[in-house]
Amino acid sequence: MPRIIVLGSINMDLVVTAERFPGPGETIAGEAFRTFSGGKGANQAIAAARMGAKVAFVGAVGADAFGADLVAGMAVEGIDTTSVATVAGVSTGTALITVAQGENCIVVVAGANAAVDGTAAAGLVGSGDRLVAQLEVPKAAIAEAFAAARAAGAETLLNAAPAAPAVRDLLPLTDILIVNETELDLIAGWIGADGGDARTCARSLLAAGPSTVVVTLGAAGLVAVTAEATIELGGHRVVPVDTTGAGDCFVGTLAAGLSAGADLAEALETANAAAALSVQKPGAAPSMPRAEDVRAFLA
Ligand code: ATP
Repeated sequence: MPRIIVLGSINMDLVVTAERFPGPGETIAGEAFRTFSGGKGANQAIAAARMGAKVAFVGAVGADAFGADLVAGMAVEGIDTTSVATVAGVSTGTALITVAQGENCIVVVAGANAAVDGTAAAGLVGSGDRLVAQLEVPKAAIAEAFAAARAAGAETLLNAAPAAPAVRDLLPLTDILIVNETELDLIAGWIGADGGDARTCARSLLAAGPSTVVVTLGAAGLVAVTAEATIELGGHRVVPVDTTGAGDCFVGTLAAGLSAGADLAEALETANAAAALSVQKPGAAPSMPRAEDVRAFLA
């Protein structure tokens, strides 16, 4: 089976719930504290692995307990973690999240994620593989790995999240671009593409490099365009509990479907269903469904 190589971020999310947010200089008592694995790269790798794909994750952690725990958690999912670097002198990426009164305040420290380079992914990727990246690791790393993937005959998937102007340089190396509506609008602005509805805007992005542009529309589903076709799928009607990681679930499942030999329409259908399942459970990585759950949902 061809491999999915995910080049991306891995974080420890530290979540505290409190009655209210503290003011500057203030200390208050919190209610509860939990840790979750996070980072778009790690989430997408887990989503793909749970769908049965053969996945290798390429990223970096600090030489600390969070890093060791995160890597061990990925290995439990059956993900090849041998190309996760341990970087001395920086922390593992962390997100400090305070939740109060239904709102959250987040401070993200990129830590080791900022030290990721493209060499390991470039060395791993082979013909028929898929290389998946997001924008939480340095652009130069993605560019190096994508160029190597192209040269090796692999397909490149870019989830341009969080959107950053650097995406301009990556689009010519990208086969499948996956964005949400906000990212789509920002990127269209940066490259001077046509605005308008998601379908028109996505179509105008094809000229910048990707052969497929997929726009996720939250509860409304998705629209995908290629030079020859437009695919529109409505969202599944579900009661969302926590939409965190829905986009990551979608991307990982899409890559897994394509690797298993599905055509674009079939892989999108599966990704749309998997992401709808993920929003019905709390958390990002813990909410990623397994292949059998998705099959049962679609049956
Ligand atoms: P997030 O940042 O929350 O991870 P995103 O903004 O990257 O998400 P969305 O477009 O919100 O991505 O959602 C991705 C996919 O998840 C959608 O295309 C859809 O398939 C599914 N989805 C999201 N929200 C819902 C919902 N409320 N009901 C059904 N499906 C949903």
